[in-house]
Amino acid sequence: MQVARSVCPLDCPDRCSLEVRLEQGRAVAIDGNHSNPLTDGFICAKVRRFTERVYGPDRLRHPMRRRGPKGEGRFERVSWDEAIDDIVSRFGAIRGESGGEAILPFNYGGSNGLLTQGAGDERLFRGIGASRLARTVCAAPSSAAAQALYGGMASVDFPDFEAARYIIIWGANPRHSNIHLMPHLKRARANGCRVALIDPRRTLGPEWIDRHLPVYPGSDAAVALAMIGHLEAIGKIDHDFLAAHTTGAEKLLQRARDWPLERAAARARVEAREIAAIAEEYAAAAPAVVRCGWGLERNRNGESAVAAVLALPAVAGKFGVRGGGYAMSAQSTYGVDRESLATMSEPPTRIINMNRLGRALLEQADPPIRALFVYNANPVSTVPDQNRICRGLAREDLFTVVFDQVMTDTARYADLLLPATTFLEHAELSISYGTYAVQLGEPVIEPVGESRSNEQVFTLLAERLGVKSDHPGGDRLVTRALAAMSGPLAGGNGSGAARDGAVLLQRLRRDGILPFDFPGRRPVQFGTALPRTGDRKAHLWPAALGPEPYRVLDPPHGKKYPLALISPATHKAISSSLAEYGFKEGYVEMHPDDAAARRLEGGQEVRVYNELGEVRVPLRLNAGVRPGVVNLPKGLWNRHTRNGAVATALVPDEISEISGGACFNDARVEVGPIPG
Ligand code: SF4
Repeated sequence: MQVARSVCPLDCPDRCSLEVRLEQGRAVAIDGNHSNPLTDGFICAKVRRFTERVYGPDRLRHPMRRRGPKGEGRFERVSWDEAIDDIVSRFGAIRGESGGEAILPFNYGGSNGLLTQGAGDERLFRGIGASRLARTVCAAPSSAAAQALYGGMASVDFPDFEAARYIIIWGANPRHSNIHLMPHLKRARANGCRVALIDPRRTLGPEWIDRHLPVYPGSDAAVALAMIGHLEAIGKIDHDFLAAHTTGAEKLLQRARDWPLERAAARARVEAREIAAIAEEYAAAAPAVVRCGWGLERNRNGESAVAAVLALPAVAGKFGVRGGGYAMSAQSTYGVDRESLATMSEPPTRIINMNRLGRALLEQADPPIRALFVYNANPVSTVPDQNRICRGLAREDLFTVVFDQVMTDTARYADLLLPATTFLEHAELSISYGTYAVQLGEPVIEPVGESRSNEQVFTLLAERLGVKSDHPGGDRLVTRALAAMSGPLAGGNGSGAARDGAVLLQRLRRDGILPFDFPGRRPVQFGTALPRTGDRKAHLWPAALGPEPYRVLDPPHGKKYPLALISPATHKAISSSLAEYGFKEGYVEMHPDDAAARRLEGGQEVRVYNELGEVRVPLRLNAGVRPGVVNLPKGLWNRHTRNGAVATALVPDEISEISGGACFNDARVEVGPIPG
């Protein structure tokens, strides 16, 4: 038995360091190791079973060409040469007839590494003048708000939660999607820290939280503004901090006055006194930290909700101490110069919002999309308006290439299927969006079947399609990526062009990890880490969020479909990745009172439906889901429901105003028995 070191590059803030057990060249077990102190030797159950993806029945082992109707999933094996020739000739013809914009690359967070996304792929699609993709299915509103207020200031690191005396977990479920925060929460609790959870579902039990505010989806902006207004009313605004370190505070306070507790409580369908209690406890405690998740951005109020939540620590004067402030994405602190990885400047081609893929495939003109290249993504399961996407993918005149590790629901619509390596089979340089460390994963097993890495395939296609730019391969690409980071890497000698990537690569190979070199080890917001805005101040009325940064839009009216649908992540899948073995069957969760009002019983098969579609699944009763809300898990595949449709079939393809973010939680549905 051999043991090899690796890194999990999946879409998760924890970025675990891994230990892979090998027998005769096969990976037989995966667990956490201690290279990354945050991992601390344990990982989630999803990735512990990752060998089931690597060797499982869904794994793609060689290139294939479609034989049956689109979507049916019947393919015949072809060689790599045939597959590449086919792409080159189809792309060539399409570019000649309609221009490069008729080709759309489609990718998201199937891998969060720097080598498999945004490097050779970006160079290829820029080089052929393809349409550009607005990658907004997740984190667009949050990033827009954080950037606008604080310019991407470093986040509170998870170990510093132990210093906090009050924690607000807002729109996040660390038990499923950020499990390495949990030990720190536990120690914080042992130190006497109180915790409030703001979320439509009670995702943590009484051993973890003292208060639960079950806000109605889309009402977070109103609640956060009401908390700010209440802080002012009880004299708990830190005026000195606001005067010294912020701009726009008076306008924010004025807007917050529009949301008295009762008004926000009516919008959020909670008790006004509960909002007040959390605001008062938060104001009284020090240090106090807000863990802002991505749940509150999933509606048309996404940007304003995140902005109002992130403004709270400034208004209440919670910065400047270890364990005080907010935690969100850490990624901008790495300062990756992605342009140097793409090696080509962006062409001025049109931008297509990924949340409107179905509409783009069916309605886009001048030119219409004639070729789609999907990689690191499974839009049939994960992008709003599933039925419209499937109708688009079923177009006979659309040439679709899917480059993936397994036969996803999207792959079934491919004209050409290309088998991709997993992170155990290729090199990957990983940064984390939860914490501060760069890690390198090197191949620990041979590619399964004929699978190839993104880097290999995009380099080959670029060559064949005549894209010319200096794109380094192998170690040269890794050193370039390391040199492209301006964040304070430990041992980093300088930054940008001055930084020697080769030295960093040597250290990475030796230690497996490059931590950050913050003064005092971890950042203290408004202590050792300042906003990265031009004036180093927090902009509480930022122009980047439009003339009304805290506009609260009315919720979608739900007369015919009165229930708000949420579709949060679970411990069974990472978006839709790994769901092929994580889930056996989908389900919908509903409060017992809502079920009783519809004469529905737990275990019964039901239809969840609206004007866009229908999903048939068994019903689970759960008093932890607030009344008026139902929960269909994120990431199901079609095989996991009785009618082969998932939550996204019920989600409109509306987008948020500022950043074009997906509005999953604006879906309104009804639930009923199966007719007949
Ligand atoms: S998904 Fe997250 S918790 Fe699981 S192994 Fe990867 S980084 Fe760790």
